[in-house]
Amino acid sequence: MKVVGIDLGTTNSEVAIVENGQVRVLPGEDGDSILPSCVGFSDTGKLLVGREALRQYAAAPERTVKSIKRWMGTDHKTTFGDKEYLPHEVAAMILRALQQRAEKALGETITQAVITVPAYFTDAQRQATKTAGEIAGLEVLQIINEPTAAALAYDLRSEETERVVVYDLGGGTFDVSVVEITGEVTEVLASHGNNRLGGDDFDRLLQLHLADLFRQQHGVDLPDDAATQARLLRAAEQLKIDLSSHAFATVREAFLGSKGKTPLHLEIEVARADLEKLIHPLLVETLEAIDRALTDANLEPEEIDRIILVGGSTRIPLVQQMIQEHLGQAPTDGIQPDLCVALGAALQAGVLGGESVDAILVDVIPHSLGIAAAITTPMGIMPDYFSAIIPRNSVVPVSRSHVYSTVFDEQEAVEIEVFQGENAIASENVPLGSFRVENLPPKPAGTIQIEVHFDFDLNGILTVTSTEKGKGQQGTLVVNHASIQKLSSHDLKQARADLDALFESDEIIEISGEELGDAVEIAPELAELLNRARQALPTLDAEAAEELQDLLDQIEKAIRASANANQSTELTELQAELSDFLYYASTNEAE
Ligand code: AMP
Repeated sequence: MKVVGIDLGTTNSEVAIVENGQVRVLPGEDGDSILPSCVGFSDTGKLLVGREALRQYAAAPERTVKSIKRWMGTDHKTTFGDKEYLPHEVAAMILRALQQRAEKALGETITQAVITVPAYFTDAQRQATKTAGEIAGLEVLQIINEPTAAALAYDLRSEETERVVVYDLGGGTFDVSVVEITGEVTEVLASHGNNRLGGDDFDRLLQLHLADLFRQQHGVDLPDDAATQARLLRAAEQLKIDLSSHAFATVREAFLGSKGKTPLHLEIEVARADLEKLIHPLLVETLEAIDRALTDANLEPEEIDRIILVGGSTRIPLVQQMIQEHLGQAPTDGIQPDLCVALGAALQAGVLGGESVDAILVDVIPHSLGIAAAITTPMGIMPDYFSAIIPRNSVVPVSRSHVYSTVFDEQEAVEIEVFQGENAIASENVPLGSFRVENLPPKPAGTIQIEVHFDFDLNGILTVTSTEKGKGQQGTLVVNHASIQKLSSHDLKQARADLDALFESDEIIEISGEELGDAVEIAPELAELLNRARQALPTLDAEAAEELQDLLDQIEKAIRASANANQSTELTELQAELSDFLYYASTNEAE
């Protein structure tokens, strides 16, 4: 049975496998290795995952969700129609699409996976990722850290010890890790990051900048509605990507706003330097994180043998330049930065699946874990002191115990409150849960001893057990947020059945054809747009009607000229133009 490696990214996801000692990313039927981490429902209620969902994002943001990974481990709800979904339920849809992709490519059933998460992910986020896998019908054999996966993919294993900085800047998360690779062992020495920083932020800054430029150019504001802003954001992302390879690039969006009845187009040239000015402060933050990771790992920049870049946003020239200036050496290139995490996950999956791949993985925990305790000082008892039981960057799996004693005479109970973080004041850290040990025997302060045991497993799940030394009374806590609790088998079955229903046919993420005119197959979205266009025609003023008719004529020509209408780029462009036109017409009507 094959085990797949999955990079479940904020922006994009991939699935990879080791076969005959070779590791490769499995492409979808469209030949694309990357599956955008985007989920939506079409207007007919059909589930869309990946590129199709992304395509409708601008036109239907209320039925489409991106960057769900940012919400993993919370109870943030995404509403599609009259149904609400938790983040791990949306992630399960992406995982199921990847599973189907792998099954189609390999011609066999896939039920086991290794999934990567940022090194900085909390327990709640890791647990939510695991639950997402389970709902999708994948047994998650291991959750591994993305930088560790990347280092594995770069195949840096040599007999000498190499110290590597892995700088991972993706769409929604930033992570920097210092790893040490000796022979076949990859060890994360330290990691830092910000799971709310990435290319999406650059897109938003550029979006605001474009809105400013539009105002300066036309003297009016762009409409503030979701659809216009979504289009602007999409244009901003494309502009950002273009500016990675060009010093100047032009953004063009037709019918984005209006002045009275006159439609306004956005057409602006932006310099790479302008983008750099906008994102510079965020990149400075990433350099500070590098410094913190190096300090934690007890290393000077000169002691780093290699820098590897991971994540689509590291294609931005300024990112590479700032890292090089900061650390005094150029990053290694070679592997596509967006695929190396998936490749590394596949290597680890191969090891677990019994393939002959030579790699051993050692991971560390990203935050210190401990409990709130009271300490006795000359000034009296100080509560809310954070007593770390497992220090951050401990190699996992790890188990540690501490013994605590009561602080009051005849104390009847103790509350074990578990936190993660680095602050000496417990309540300033992230609370993970608590439980109470009651009915303690009435004894003087300091005489009842309670051992608190922390067990952190390979998947980043923490189990806390307390044992009262005298009577052997026990309490246990498995850390998971209320919102991401492991589902009971009944709930899991139900969630899986719901997902199965959405995916009931293999065709679910394909666009199924529909007949038009001379038996030419066109996509349902286009058919829908044409319908709306025909209805809109009589309501438009002469000038707009003429413009629309012209567009419809071009589309008809393109449909007839194309043997396979779904694949004509001209048609895709015309379709986008029609969608924009109709959107503009409808907002104008509403005014
Ligand atoms: P990842 O999460 O690694 O797939 O990275 C996705 C992010 O990389 C998105 O924010 C993309 O806009 C961004 N990205 C991809 N290619 C480029 C590029 N050539 N230049 C700048 N950003 C890019």
